[in-house]
Formats: sequence, structure tokens, C-alpha cells
Amino acid sequence: MNQKESDVVIIGGGIIGLFCAYYLSKEGKSVTVLEKGPLKEACSYGNCGLVSPSHALPLNSPALIMKAAVWLFQKDSPFYIKPQLDMKFVSWMLGFALNAFNKKQIERSMHGRNNLLIDSKNLYNDLFASQSFDCNWAPDGIHFVFGKEENFEAYRAKDDKLATIGLAAEPIVGQTLLDMEPALTDRAYGSWFYKIDASLNPGKLLTGLRKELIAKGVVIEELCEVTEFKKNNNRITELVTNKGNIKAKDVVLATGAWSPWLENQLNLKIPIVPGKGYSITMKRPAISPICPLIFEERKVVATPWKDGYRLGGTMEFSGYDTTLNRDRLQSLKRAATEYLKEPFTEENAEEWCGWRPMTTDGMPIIDKSPKHQNLYMACGHNMLGLSMAPSTGKLIAEMITAKEPHIDHSLYSFNRF
Ligand SMILES: Cc1cc2nc3c(=O)[nH]c(=O)nc-3n(C[C@H](O)[C@H](O)[C@H](O)COP(=O)(O)OP(=O)(O)OC[C@H]3O[C@@H](n4cnc5c(N)ncnc54)[C@H](O)[C@@H]3O)c2cc1C
Repeated sequence: MNQKESDVVIIGGGIIGLFCAYYLSKEGKSVTVLEKGPLKEACSYGNCGLVSPSHALPLNSPALIMKAAVWLFQKDSPFYIKPQLDMKFVSWMLGFALNAFNKKQIERSMHGRNNLLIDSKNLYNDLFASQSFDCNWAPDGIHFVFGKEENFEAYRAKDDKLATIGLAAEPIVGQTLLDMEPALTDRAYGSWFYKIDASLNPGKLLTGLRKELIAKGVVIEELCEVTEFKKNNNRITELVTNKGNIKAKDVVLATGAWSPWLENQLNLKIPIVPGKGYSITMKRPAISPICPLIFEERKVVATPWKDGYRLGGTMEFSGYDTTLNRDRLQSLKRAATEYLKEPFTEENAEEWCGWRPMTTDGMPIIDKSPKHQNLYMACGHNMLGLSMAPSTGKLIAEMITAKEPHIDHSLYSFNRF
């Protein structure tokens, strides 16, 4: 490994780590990113590619808790909790459920998420206005599609809530929707169209950003796992890896769902659990959606790119399990079949699963470690890491360079847990 000391060492080369590297290098810092896996292991690789301010409301809601009780008994349900006696998970689940019934907390999470989502959308626009690489950036909106009128109408309450923060959707029903999205069958009753949302190909974004960073002098060490920290008083002085030790002035923890694996080393309790999701990536169908479609009743997303197509979704709490569950993969196809004329193609389909870094309140941790003078945490981005990454990277760069933060980050503090 390149032993030259960098100003900042970032642990984790997913989308959060890369955006931290991007803004730190813009501030003139020398940066090394240490990444333990191949690209595909990161949750940032196989996700649905939505950059979606429309998702400001957290997942915690009384409605989800009620539905989850029913889904527990369905093999291919969109939400699954494997029965487990792991006390860390039990206490996480309790925190998640309590937040679902705490109106003040839901309000706080909505505002905290919204600030990161809107800011990141703007930063993506700036990035793609000046960047040379193509990752299928499409700032054209996303449809939340419903098959049943009653479900479409029930969603109105959620949209009304989003309208209070300026995110109201356009309701589109019947033939108008089919004219906008000819790939839908007439079983689709209507959609809530969020014009503010965008999409991209996350694998291409990771690859493009990596190339860009390397060209700017950022060192990216792959297949390099951090296993231990050497400390002096409250400072991390060296990181121990499978490729040798590396000295550090400042360190960023951007390890997504793996963050708790380092908590004993850091003497911190990191309240993140893995929320497993699946995707299937394939050739674009001949009759393809124009914009991404979220089939809300099934919690499945269909994202089209000019040269590809992905179905993704499901939330499974089954620990750090890497098995590709056939029932869940099939459920993605079955859901798409309910709404689309050509729901999937089979050629060279790539099946994938990844772990979302889930916190109990739907907000990430973007903060300085309470126990270390030179460790910064950028983890726990739940279902929205891609949508929140630029803002997170910029905040971390501002913390490390002691600049005035461009948005309020008090809601993302570690000590709230
Ligand atoms: C099916 C699915 C669909 C999704 N769709 C969307 C979407 O449409 N829009 C959206 O915004 N979000 C979406 N998400 C969520 C999003 O993918 C995550 O929030 C995001 O990828 C988290 O990014 P990250 O960089 O924190 O974590 P990761 O991408 O997982 O990166 C963390 C990296 O750290 C590395 N690492 C861990 N420990 C170590 C160590 N000790 N040493 C070195 N390296 C280490 C890991 O190998 C990994 O590469 C989706 C997730 C899933 C599963």
C-alpha cells in the first residue's frame, strides 16, 4: 500500500465515502479511500438509482407497523423480519417502532431528511453541469403508481404532509397516465408524480466518480480492510489493514451497514442494523417506462436507463446474511407484472442484494465522534444514501476544514441516540 500520509483517510468507498473524498479534495486536502471489497459489495452499487426528495417522510409510521405484522407471515412480502434474539436488534426494533408513534420525531426526521435531500439534489445538478462522465442523470420526475383507486386516494394524506414542505405531487389518473407512461397496462389506476425527483445509474456514478477522484490525486486502495485502530489519547494515529498500516491525521467512517463491526475498536455503540434489499438489472425492455415507477402497493421500483433497466426493492431484517432469496427476487418480477406490459427481460440479468444502513429515526449520523478528536462519522443513510450523498460529503468536508456548515447538521448528531 502507498504509505504516504494523507490529510484524510476515508474508510469505505461507497457513495458516501466517495462524495466525502470529492468535497475534501475540492478543499485542497490530500485523501486516501480504503475499500475492503469489490465495487459490487457496496450497497451503493445495486440500488434503484433514485435521487428522491419525495422520500422526506421516514419509513417509521403506524401504518407500516400494522402492515409489517401481516407481512411477517408472507414468504415474498416486501418487509420481512427474521425472528432473532440478538439484543442489539431487539432494542433497535423497539426504537424504530416507538419513533413510528412519535409525531414530534416523525416531524423532526422529515425536516432533517428534507434538508439533506433538497441540498443533495441541487449539488447533483451542479455536479452534472460541470462533469464529463455520463451516468444517465435524468432529472425528469418519478411516478408513485397505484393499481387501486382506494390506495391512490389513501396516499393523498402522505402527499398533503409532503405539501407542507413544498413537495406536493401532481396526481395523474386514467388515460392521461397511460399517455405519459405507455409501458403501463390499464390496470394502473393513477400516479402521484413528483417532478422534483431524478434518477441515475448508481454503478456508473461510482465508476465515474472514482475515475474523477483518481485523476484529482485521490488514492483509492481496493481490497483493503481496516481491522484495527491505533490510538494515542483520544486521537487515532494509525489504521491497521490487511495491506499494512496507514497513518492518519483525520479519519472518516463511511462504512455503511458495516459500521457496527468497528464499534468495539472505537469504543462506541453505533446504532445501525442492515436492511437487506434486492435488485435485478437487465436489458431495457422494448416497451420501457419513461420515468422511474414506484409500485407503492408492492414497494417495488422499476428504473429505466437509456441502456438498461432495474427492478428493486424489499426490506429484510435478517442480519448480515448474503443469501439471494429466490422468493424475494421473484416477488420483484411478480410486482412489475401487475403493472407493466413488458415487466422484465431475461437476457444477462444480474441478481444482487445489498445492506441498507438503517437507523431508528431514518436520519444518518453526520458528526464528529464524541470520543475521538480526529474521527468523523458519515454513516446510517437508510434507504436514501444515494439521494443524500453530496450534501453529506460537503458537510464532512466543512467539519474537517472548520468551515461554516452550508446547512444545519444538528439533527444528524451521534449523541441523539
Ligand atoms: C435494493 C435497494 C435499493 C435502494 N435504492 C435507493 C435509491 O433508489 N436511492 C437512494 O438514495 N438509496 C437507495 N438505496 C440505499 C442506498 O443504496 C444506501 O443508503 C447507500 O448505498 C449507503 O451508502 P454507503 O456509502 O453509506 O454504504 P455502502 O455503499 O455500503 O458503502 C460502504 C462501504 O464501506 C466498505 N467497508 C465497510 N467496512 C470496511 C472496512 N472495515 N474497511 C474498508 N472498507 C469497509 C464496504 O465494503 C462498502 O463498500 C437502496 C438500497 C437497496 C438495498
